[in-house]
Amino acid sequence: MREEAKLPVLLKNLKLSAMGRLWNPMAEEAMKEGWNHPRFLSSLCEHEVEERYQKRTARYLKLSGLPAGKSLATFDFSHTPSVSKVKVQDLASNTHWITEGNTALIFGPSGVGKTHLASAIGHGLIERGVRVLFTPTTTLMQKLQLARKNLTLSTALYKLDRYGLLILDDIGYVRKDDAETHVLFELIAHRYESKSIIVTSNQPFSEWDQIFATDAMTIAAIDRLVHHATIFEVLTESYRRLQSLEKKPNDEMKRKIPAPEPPK
Ligand code: ADP
Ligand code: MG
Repeated sequence: MREEAKLPVLLKNLKLSAMGRLWNPMAEEAMKEGWNHPRFLSSLCEHEVEERYQKRTARYLKLSGLPAGKSLATFDFSHTPSVSKVKVQDLASNTHWITEGNTALIFGPSGVGKTHLASAIGHGLIERGVRVLFTPTTTLMQKLQLARKNLTLSTALYKLDRYGLLILDDIGYVRKDDAETHVLFELIAHRYESKSIIVTSNQPFSEWDQIFATDAMTIAAIDRLVHHATIFEVLTESYRRLQSLEKKPNDEMKRKIPAPEPPK
């Protein structure tokens, strides 16, 4: 048996699927082009690494729950002058803050692009190999609440550690009478200084006493979130509203358009 006959099995055994598929055609190319052995091996490895990267990125994206298409490429920064493009790009392309377990907080009224910005950072980081989970805060709280009832809250919190970044969208929708606030606090405390969180919120900190059960808990939660945080305030008109005005001018829009001068 010729040595190379074992190659497909060996590569399969090592789970090197791209190399298994490509070694034969690439060996022919190498012979034709006169590549030496290291050059041939390096080209094969490059393909394997690239294919793994693509597969991993696709897998992370699927598991992330991130809204599709809400990336940096589709975000119009000229609409939000209060948001530093450089800072957002830095968070989306630099994994340093994830390693440090830092946070980012995005405040602003409804429709101004908070969810889009948070997702854009998430998309960027997935491409850099970070596992990201995007979730409406209330949805995750209900799951954690259930885990708490089943006495598995601690396991559930540790499971979330596999995500380097957790995006808690619309934290302000959690209400203190929903019995969800304890698990929210526990989640924040659990990830503090070890795993990153991005929070989006319609409510400024001054209204967070509506979210957490007690003032002490509110202060403790805010303390942990702002320590090592990048904070964005999106101070602009609702993008959603402006877009709908542009599409189908309603009465409000028509009122803004001056009536034509009557003929003299
Ligand atoms: P928020 O979370 O603040 O309520 P969203 O992020 O959901 O707002 O934005 C509302 C809609 O407007 C989304 O479809 C979003 O993609 C779009 N949008 C908001 N701001 C921008 C922007 N600056 N550039 C492009 N699209 C934007
Ligand atoms: Mg939103």
